[in-house]
Amino acid sequence: MTAIPVHPLLLPIVTGLGYFLGAKLGVWASAMSEGISIFWPPNSVLLAALLLTRPKYWPLHLLAVMPAEIIADLPVFTLPQALNFAFVNIIEVTLAAVLLRRVADPFTLDRLRNVAYFGLIAMFLASAGAALLGAWVYLMTTDSDTSYWGFWQIWWFGDGLGLLIFTPLLLSWLGRLQVPATSRVIEAGLLFLMTLGLCMFSFSAEPYQVRGLPHLPLLLLPLPIWAAIRFGLRGASSIGLTIALVAIYHMQRGVGPFMGENPAEGVLRVQEYLFVVVFTSLAIAALLQELRDRNALLETSQGALRLAQRELTSANLELEHKVRERTRELNEVNVRLERQALTDVLTGIANRRHFMAQAEVEVARAHRHDRPLSLLMFDIDHFKNINDEFGHANGDRVLVAVTQALHDTLRSGDLLARIGGEEFAVLLPDTDIDRAVDLAERLRQVVEATEVACDTRSIRVTISGGVAALCEADSNVEPILKRADDALYRSKANGRNRIARG
Ligand code: GH3
Ligand code: MG
Ligand code: MG
Repeated sequence: MTAIPVHPLLLPIVTGLGYFLGAKLGVWASAMSEGISIFWPPNSVLLAALLLTRPKYWPLHLLAVMPAEIIADLPVFTLPQALNFAFVNIIEVTLAAVLLRRVADPFTLDRLRNVAYFGLIAMFLASAGAALLGAWVYLMTTDSDTSYWGFWQIWWFGDGLGLLIFTPLLLSWLGRLQVPATSRVIEAGLLFLMTLGLCMFSFSAEPYQVRGLPHLPLLLLPLPIWAAIRFGLRGASSIGLTIALVAIYHMQRGVGPFMGENPAEGVLRVQEYLFVVVFTSLAIAALLQELRDRNALLETSQGALRLAQRELTSANLELEHKVRERTRELNEVNVRLERQALTDVLTGIANRRHFMAQAEVEVARAHRHDRPLSLLMFDIDHFKNINDEFGHANGDRVLVAVTQALHDTLRSGDLLARIGGEEFAVLLPDTDIDRAVDLAERLRQVVEATEVACDTRSIRVTISGGVAALCEADSNVEPILKRADDALYRSKANGRNRIARG
């Protein structure tokens, strides 16, 4: 993986150049005449290159740093010394790169866990380990009072701090990290100027010093923290470098709060200070980035969840609507079926089943309210002859016409039903036997007067009827029906076209 828009084969040249410039900066950062470098940046150039490129290109990067190291070292060291230093540095960085890639591949510093590993591996493993070799090279090839462990500590801290300050800076500016929003340019400028100003004040004696104010370098810590909060890893690492450069600049001038009994002591103090400041702000930047990423992920999944819930709700609503629609249709069909089950197909009036059910209800009601109830039964006279003479279809017409005549004469509260082929019954609530007989007679006359058009002729028919009323002893409609039927039978026997009371 690489985010650098340069051909991978040209990148080693960039690495070599960067390494050389880093070495020059490292020499500049050497405190005073003793040549102890406060930080050693070139290794971070190589580490960033190895972390940003595929391992198959690594040998080219490693080769590129050899001439860079030699050219940078030759003014001060011999060629064998320079070669040895290059060898130690390559071992150190390769070890760090291999281990960091095992932690995460690609390795990024936007996770607190990765920053923690970075601190451990770069600062305490690779640099401290390589320093064992480096100190030995120093001891063998230079004439100095410094002990082996003295050299070891100088090499370790310089390399470790160099890696800690510059690798995140290079990774954040060259790797795939979020670019700060342009709307924060003013804030970024302000933060940088404040850092510069406060560093000048904190790390200097004259001429920036304000008499009486404490020069506590740790009071600068809010600045890289602010950078970490607002500008992430880029902000934190850039402000960290600014603080380091100003601190070192003042140390070289022999001023500031880190100056100790001797230069080595001052170097150690500023190194420890920079380690705390830079590592703290890197950790905060990574933690916040991690939280932001998690929140974004959470929001995305919550959004997806909300969408799914909305879709589910609308699917439910649609389903409910369909169910309601089907239920309504089903109810309509049921009502239709019920009506059909209670209706005579030919005449459209109540059938026997409906009549019987309704009659039971009315009998109970009449008993309850002590109201009269009468029942009429009619049978068309000699209907068989009609069928025989005019055909079944005309017989049906007669049935319909008689139904119509009866229906038109009755009140709306009376129930007319066809209870047999050409037999009808009428239920008369609130009607006593006398009024029922009168009504039956009127109905008989109406039917007698009705002319039914049958093909070329018109036919008249008569009906015989029987009337019965509810008695106290009647517990249901059956005995009333029986009495009305008996009366009807008598009407037939007495010559038809008449009404008899049961
Ligand atoms: P009565 O005066 O004694 O009642 O003589 P009737 O001919 O009416 O006697 P019966 O009750 O034996 O005959 C009834 C006839 O009614 C028999 C049957 O063919 C006819 N019928 C019954 N239902 C229908 C129907 O739905 N349509 C037609 N066209 N005729 C029917
Ligand atoms: Mg009959
Ligand atoms: Mg008949």
